[in-house]
Amino acid sequence: MKKQTIAIDTPFQKSDAYGALSMPVYHTLAYEFADADVMSDAFCGRIEEPDYSRVMNPTVNYLELKIKALTGADRVTAMSSGMAAISGTLISLAEQGKNVVASRHMFGNTYSLLTKTLPRFGVTTHLCDLTNLDEVRRAVDADTCCIFLEIITNPQLEVADLTALAEIAHAHNIPLVADTTAIPFTEFCAHELGVDIEVVSTTKYLSGGATSLGGMVIDYGGFPEFARRLHDEMLFNLGAYMTPHVAYMQNLGLENLRARYDLQVRNTVYLVNALRQMEGIKSVNYVGLPDNPYYELAQRQFGKTAGCMFTIDLESKEACFRFINNLKLVHRATNLFDNRTLAIHPASTIFGPFSDEQRAAMDVLDTTIRISVGLEDMDDIIEDFRQALL
Ligand code: PLP
Repeated sequence: MKKQTIAIDTPFQKSDAYGALSMPVYHTLAYEFADADVMSDAFCGRIEEPDYSRVMNPTVNYLELKIKALTGADRVTAMSSGMAAISGTLISLAEQGKNVVASRHMFGNTYSLLTKTLPRFGVTTHLCDLTNLDEVRRAVDADTCCIFLEIITNPQLEVADLTALAEIAHAHNIPLVADTTAIPFTEFCAHELGVDIEVVSTTKYLSGGATSLGGMVIDYGGFPEFARRLHDEMLFNLGAYMTPHVAYMQNLGLENLRARYDLQVRNTVYLVNALRQMEGIKSVNYVGLPDNPYYELAQRQFGKTAGCMFTIDLESKEACFRFINNLKLVHRATNLFDNRTLAIHPASTIFGPFSDEQRAAMDVLDTTIRISVGLEDMDDIIEDFRQALL
C-alpha cells in the first residue's frame, strides 16, 4: 500500500468489539490475563500483550504500528514529548565515560541535555561542525557512543550530509541518530541515508495543529543492545510513555498530515518569495530556496520539500522586537508546524538562558526571527509582515 493509505488504513491489532472505525482511546491502566502463564509471557516480553499502560497501551501501540509500517522500522516507541524521545535515546546509548559527537547547532533543550545534564552522569559531548567531515573524524574516538544531529538545525537551518556521517559512524560501529522533526518521516526515508535511529518531536507536524505533546523513537534495528535498553529499561524506568488520549489525537494528525503538509509547504514557498521582495528584511533564509547553500543536499536527502520553518534577519535586535510587537495576525509563540503562523526571536527566548559567548558559538544571532508557517491564506500573512515592518 502507498504511504497515505497506510496512514489511514493500517488494521487494528485486534478487531474492535463495536466495529469502531477510528482506534478508540483505551483509557485503561491494567489488563486482565487468562491465566498465570500468559501473564508471565506478557510481563517477560515473550508475547506482545499490554500489561500496564506505563509501558504498553493499545491506542498508543496502534500509532506505533502505523509508524512502523510507514517507515519500515524495526521498532517504534512513542514517548510523552520530543525531549523524552531524545533523552531516552541518549541515555540508552550512553554510559559513564562515553561521549556523544554532536553539532554546535541544536534545539536549546537538546543542547542543555548534552552539555549540562548528561555531563553530571559522566557523559560528555564533543561539539563540532558536522558539515566538516574531517572535524567529525577527529571528534569521534573509542568512547563515542553515537553521532547526533538535527536534519535541518533549529534555528540556524544547517543541513549535514547524512550518508557521509553514517559512513563515519558505522566505521566505528556506532549509530547515527537524527532528530528528524523538521521534515515529516512520511516525506523521506532516513534509514536509506544511513540513519540508524530517528527521534521526532511529534508535537510538531504529527499532533495536527498543536493538539498535544509527543515524541517518537524510530529504531531501524542495527543496534540490538540499544533496542533492549530503550524498551526494557527506559520505557519502564523513566515512565515517559505516550498517553492514550495523545496517541488518539496524533493518530488523527497522522491521517491528515499529507494534506496539511502539502499546503503548509506551498504556503512557505509563497511567503518566502514574497518576503524576499519586501523592504526592511536583510535576508530570508529557507533551505527550499535554490540559492540556499544547502538546497541541493536538502533536495537529495529530503525530496521535493524543505519543511515549513524559515528565518528572516533584520538590522538589529531592536528591529526584531519592534517587528514582533507590531504583528497583528502572526502569533508571538514558540512551536513549529502549528496551524497558525508563528514568530519567535530565538536568541532572547529559547536561547535566552545561555551566555552571549554560548549563543555566539551556536550561531544564534540577535538579528534572527524564526517563522513557522501555518495554514492561513498567505496574502493576509504577507500584509501583516508588511505593516509590522513599517
Ligand atoms: N527537537 C526539535 C528540533 C525541536 O524543535 C523541539 C521543540 O521545539 C524538540 C526536539 C523538543 O520537542 P518537544 O517540545 O516535543 O519536547
